[in-house]
Amino acid sequence: MKTIDLRSDTVTTPTKDMYQEMQLAPIGDDVYGDDPTVNKLEALAAETLSKEKALFVPTGTMGNLIAVMAHTRPGEEIILERYSHIFLYEAAGASRLAGVQPMAISGRDGVMDPEEVEESIRAENIHFPSTGLICVENTHNMAGGMVQPMENLQQLRSIANRHQLPMHLDGARVFNAAASLNCDVKEIAAYFDSIMFCLSKGLSSPIGSMLVGDEEFIGRARKLRKMLGGGMRQAGIMASCGILSIEQMTSQLRVDHEHARVLSEGLTKLSGFSVDLDKVHTNIVNVSIRDKNISSEDLVNKMKAKGILANPRGKDYIRLVTHKDVTLEDINSAIRIMETL
Ligand SMILES: *Cc1c(COP(=O)(O)O)cnc(C)c1O
Repeated sequence: MKTIDLRSDTVTTPTKDMYQEMQLAPIGDDVYGDDPTVNKLEALAAETLSKEKALFVPTGTMGNLIAVMAHTRPGEEIILERYSHIFLYEAAGASRLAGVQPMAISGRDGVMDPEEVEESIRAENIHFPSTGLICVENTHNMAGGMVQPMENLQQLRSIANRHQLPMHLDGARVFNAAASLNCDVKEIAAYFDSIMFCLSKGLSSPIGSMLVGDEEFIGRARKLRKMLGGGMRQAGIMASCGILSIEQMTSQLRVDHEHARVLSEGLTKLSGFSVDLDKVHTNIVNVSIRDKNISSEDLVNKMKAKGILANPRGKDYIRLVTHKDVTLEDINSAIRIMETL
């Protein structure tokens, strides 16, 4: 029995080409700036997002933390969404290590109301911390991979400009957002001073994320990466995969999105499962099991016994994520198996 792993797109394994490149890529000590493959990946990432410079980091979490540290000073406040990854899933690194206080705003499907963002920016007052940064997540993980409307990004950008604040994008899945909008990722990146994106999710690299921004910002980020222990040596072995992620794997995301749609439509036809199809924008599907009379934990265990891996999301939902290692055939057999549960 083949296991169909729908827990996350982080479970993707490297492609054949990646395994080959890992062996062939020229490498050097990247802390000395001597790794040609890392340098090539950083130049490619910067060019792809139309920014000056980029930095290869081991994880998205470190990329976001470095961005918060590079944009702010301790004691400042950062505005972010209530269900954002930085707020919920990064072990309070921004508070503990960057020394900033989160100002969390409840969004609608992860989309923050621009008016509320502007009202949350602190005025000059002896009692108040200063606002130092606005963070946005696109696609929004907890909202089920939903894409932030371009108009919203534009409104947030004008607010940031009015208040002279930098904007950071947690773009772990920004290429999914671009694929869903059918736009160039540059158009999304243009609204932000810095962008983090993951190579290790749907783009199938084994390890790594990129932090992208202007030269001065990336200079500071490089030093912060060293401080946090993220200065790696012959990192070209991993960066070689990252180059293929950007060059070859972004087109796979459209396939993943199509599979998420097939999966959602299939599941809504089964009794007890429901999916809000309007909210399936990319490769993440939040499935309501409210009518199923079983807890999400128990359902996930039953699925596991039948070879399907998923994550519970709260007590009423399970989360299914499509990626290059699940085929259309897998999706169809997952639907057939779930019909029996
Ligand atoms: C996965 C993810 C991250 C962090 O990436 P890691 O490489 O797992 O540290 C950050 N933000 C979002 C929205 C993510 O989905």
